[in-house]
Amino acid sequence: MGRINKITVVGASLAGLRAVQTLRREGFEGEVTLVGAETHLPYNRPPLSKSVLRGDDDVTLPGAEEVGDQWLRGRQAVRLDVRSRTVTLDDGAEVGYDGLVIASGARPRRLDGVRTLRTLDDALALRAQLESGHEHVLVIGGGFIGGEVASTARQLGRKVTLVDPAPYPMHAGLGEEASRWLAAHHERNGVELVTNARVTAVNGGQVRLSDGRSIAADLVVGGMGVAPNTEWLDGSGLSVDDGVLCEPTLFATESTDIVAAGDVARWPHGLFGGETVRIEHWSNANEQGAVAARNLLAGPENAQPFADVPNFATHVHGARVQTAGLPHLADAASITAGSPEEERFAVAFTRNGVLVGAVAVNSPKDLIKLKRAITARETL
Ligand SMILES: Cc1cc2nc3c(=O)[nH]c(=O)nc-3n(C[C@H](O)[C@H](O)[C@H](O)COP(=O)(O)OP(=O)(O)OC[C@H]3O[C@@H](n4cnc5c(N)ncnc54)[C@H](O)[C@@H]3O)c2cc1C
Repeated sequence: MGRINKITVVGASLAGLRAVQTLRREGFEGEVTLVGAETHLPYNRPPLSKSVLRGDDDVTLPGAEEVGDQWLRGRQAVRLDVRSRTVTLDDGAEVGYDGLVIASGARPRRLDGVRTLRTLDDALALRAQLESGHEHVLVIGGGFIGGEVASTARQLGRKVTLVDPAPYPMHAGLGEEASRWLAAHHERNGVELVTNARVTAVNGGQVRLSDGRSIAADLVVGGMGVAPNTEWLDGSGLSVDDGVLCEPTLFATESTDIVAAGDVARWPHGLFGGETVRIEHWSNANEQGAVAARNLLAGPENAQPFADVPNFATHVHGARVQTAGLPHLADAASITAGSPEEERFAVAFTRNGVLVGAVAVNSPKDLIKLKRAITARETL
């Protein structure tokens, strides 16, 4: 620990906050500087597409007050110089470090005329539009954010159309059985589904699709995926490829003083044959922020690999859909409990016979069992 006296954390959200808390809990007494582009105290994003749109403003992230007075809020890192160990901010100020935590997260892909949802300010603006009588909401992308916005808009009594390029929403992440069930579930709850189609342009309330159709909508919201916030690392010499490339310990490749955590980090996951992954889930940012900070203090030679099984839950029209592991890596899938007709079932995903993923619909106990089996690399 003696080699590090000053740690800078870039990104004041979940992963950055957990890193700061962990540094203090591990007894680090040196200087900690947290740089965050947003001006709000770190907050919880999952409620933004759920309760916040329905009028509940509670986005409290426990421990957020621990960011302390070394928090440079509303300030953005624009450049990293690894030789002089300096981060340059948007106002020209320079912040030095002996250890750096990269926790700059991700931002939504955008399309002109389309509202996106990532920040509290995005959610409040979207809520104002939903409340101001926009009758027909068209959602682009049936992933978890698009699905939740569609579900919430239906709860608010809006007419909803959901456009997705796959045959069923969340097809890649949930597999055939569960995504087919999800499509039917959306339709049973009044969502008009348009699948196998891409939005090519939005002009004055007209949404043009790749199949030549045009749909009129009062409000267009996009859940078109995210891109990691790595532009400020351009020219730094750090390896970046859809995320900051890291060692299994979350140290940036070939670095001994920089770690990355959360939506921005890509690392070889030990449980899945060393395939590099970047995970965009709350629990991943929560755990990685802590592990990255602990490893930074321990140094690369004593650092522990990060190999938690990814897991995630989404709530759509009253159903709870959970995943564990990486179902998209599988070469086979089978239902292990319940059935889609019962609206309660679990699916196990295997690669070469070894469990790599699980999906559970209204079946949390089955998900827990399957998640344990994935951790133990069980065969099916
Ligand atoms: C609407 C919504 C609903 C979600 N629902 C769920 C859910 O139900 N379950 C689930 O598991 N996950 C969910 N997620 C995903 C989860 O919130 C993210 O995985 C998590 O927020 C990632 O945390 P992070 O700290 O890595 O990054 P982020 O939360 O993206 O935070 C990064 C922070 O860094 C700041 N920043 C970026 N660049 C710079 C820079 N150059 N300088 C300074 N600061 C910078 C950003 O402004 C931001 O504040 C949801 C996300 C959203 C948007």
